[in-house]
Parts: sequence; C-alpha cells; structure tokens
Amino acid sequence: MFCHDGATGLRAIIAVHSTRLGPALGGVRFRPYATEDEALEDVLALSRAMTYKAAVAGLDLGGGKAVILGDPARTKTEALLRAYARHVERLGGRYLTAEDVGTTQADMDLVRQETSYVTGTSRSLGGSGDPSAATALGVLQSMLALATHLWGSSDLRGRRVVVSGVGKVGLTLARHLVEEGAVVVASDVDPAALERTTSTLGLPSVPPDRAHTTECDIFSPCALGGVITAGRIAELRCQAVVGAANNQLAERGCAQLLADAGITYVPDYVANAGGIINIAQELVSHRRELASTRVRTIFDTTMAVLDEAKTEGASPTNVADRMAERRLAGYGRSGRAGAARATVTGG
Ligand code: NAD
Repeated sequence: MFCHDGATGLRAIIAVHSTRLGPALGGVRFRPYATEDEALEDVLALSRAMTYKAAVAGLDLGGGKAVILGDPARTKTEALLRAYARHVERLGGRYLTAEDVGTTQADMDLVRQETSYVTGTSRSLGGSGDPSAATALGVLQSMLALATHLWGSSDLRGRRVVVSGVGKVGLTLARHLVEEGAVVVASDVDPAALERTTSTLGLPSVPPDRAHTTECDIFSPCALGGVITAGRIAELRCQAVVGAANNQLAERGCAQLLADAGITYVPDYVANAGGIINIAQELVSHRRELASTRVRTIFDTTMAVLDEAKTEGASPTNVADRMAERRLAGYGRSGRAGAARATVTGG
C-alpha cells in the first residue's frame, strides 16, 4: 500500500507479504531512499524475510514491513508519524507495525495515538518496549550454537568477533560478547555510536570499509542489509557470519558462495528473530522472563539448521527456507494465531 499525506509530507509504503500464519508483523524503517523504486524493493524484500522469520521461529505471525521515505533527522514529526499510523489503521489489523532502523519506541508511542495495530510501545503503556535487547540476546544464542557446531563447545572465550554496526542491537550484542569472554572489535560509520561503544566497553575498532576484511572467527553484520556481496566473499577473513542485520546477502547466490568458501552463514532471519519473538509474547501478555526463555530457543533452531545443512551438504539458507516453507504450506492459520489476532483487534 502506497501512503501519502500532503499536509505532513508523508510518503510511505506498507508491504504485507503473508498473513497465512497470522497478522503480518514488521517494523517501519525511516530512511532517505534515493528513489521510490529503491524503497519499494527494500520493503518487499524485508516483508518476505519477516514471513520466513516468523515461520521458522514457530510464531503465529505473518510477514510485513513498512518504509517511510525521508531523513528521520530532518523530516520526522509527530504529525507525520500519526499520518503514517492512520494508514496502518486502515489495514484493519492485517499489518502490525513496530520500530526499525530510523524509528524508536517513543515513535511507536505516538503511533499508538492513532492505531492499536502497533507493537514495541513503552512498558508503561502496556507494550514490551524496544525489541533490540531481545534481538541481541537472540543473535548471541545463534553464535553459541554456531560455536557448538563448529568448535565443539559453546565457549566463546578468546573467539574474535567483529561487530559491524554498533547501534541499538550491535552495542548490546557487543556487551554480551564481552561478558562471554570474546575478543570484540567494533565498527560503525557514525563516530558517536562507535565512540559510545569503544569507550563504554573498552574495545578496539576498525574503519567500516575494513570490517569485513578483518581477521576474526565471526563477522557480525549489525548495520544495514546487502553487506555480503559476491565480490566481498573472497575478502572475508572469518570462519562464520552471524549478525542482526536483515537481508545480509546481496543476492541469493551468495549463500552457496559462502558455503563453497568454507564460511558458515547463519541465515539472518534465524539469528535475528529475538525481537519478533519478544513482540509475539507482547501480543499474548508480556512477561519478560517468558519472552527471554523463548528467545533462547534460537539456540536450538540454529543447531537444527546447521546440523541439517551439514548432513545434506546444503547451504543453511536453503535448509532454513525449506523449514519456513514447510510450515507455511502445512499449517495455515492455527488456533493461536486467531487468539493473537483477537487480542490485537480488541486492543
Ligand atoms: P540502529 O539504526 O540502531 O543501528 C545501526 C547502526 O549501524 C548505526 O549505529 C549506524 O550508524 C550503523 N551503520 C550504518 N551503516 C553502516 C555501515 N555501512 N557500516 C557500519 N555501520 C553502519 O539499528 P538496529 O536497531 O541496531 O538494527 C540493526 C540491524 O538489525 C538492522 O538491519 C535491522 O533491520 C536489524 N534488526 C533489528 C532488530 C531490532 O530489534 N532492532 C530486529 C531484527 C533485525
């Protein structure tokens, strides 16, 4: 759905990829896209990834995403966010919005003024808050599973991890990794974000254009998508890629190229499902302990994907895609999906 509001200058696109398992959930990204075509391509790819993410995580949710075209630093206003929210309302609950790159929990609190089809709002308003901490915890679970799979133990002590993008998720992930005893190297295009991370955690850093060529055990893309290109795969100096960024592979063929290069890639939507798992819990009734127990199931999901990929000689991406497609084909809408829908529409 293309959204436009002359009074506030809103230009947005909402993509509902699938509602087969439940309402389509996905954050709203606020970015200065160069063209509308670029925004459309991004929102369609991101909404598809949300379908697969929810399906593999065993959630009764569909896949959707939204993008607002513009520079959030210059054009984000309360009026514009509320105009966006009225478009979300018009979809009648088929799409549930949340924060993403360029939007925050405070923004979702404003969106809530116009629609109940919003998640990730403040705890004081009954929401589950910013999902980034849950996402970071989930990425850590994927890394622990990867370590078990590759090195026979989940112990990350002494393992070198390059975190590229130390924003909301990357910073918390870096903190977890330091606690696990890993040797963390940070990278970010934003000097303020980098300084906050390196000074709080006492970490070394590398320039963003050298992050992927830095020798390490795990390269962790936690900024924007498209970072793994065919050309860059030859430059990687890591054993594995596990990160929070959505749509890390620039092209589908990169999954096989990574496998051919002997680099284990945990599909992004498997590793970064912590946020959506946390939000799914919010739709039922948010209990933080329960949500983090569910986020920890990402360890088992990652193990299952990596083990099956090894047994079959397939790429982990192919295996995860197949798991999602099997669930989508076999289930349709379950009873629990109906319950989540009723909670939301009644809210
Ligand atoms: P964020 O905007 O808070 O952080 C992103 C960081 O990446 C920023 O500090 C930015 O300066 C930096 N960055 C941008 N381009 C870069 C580059 N080329 N090299 C290095 N750093 C760069 O976003 P976030 O919420 O931390 O999300 C990070 C990624 O994880 C996004 O792709 C997002 O879609 C994905 N994700 C986030 C969540 C969540 O709960 N926040 C959930 C699932 C997936």
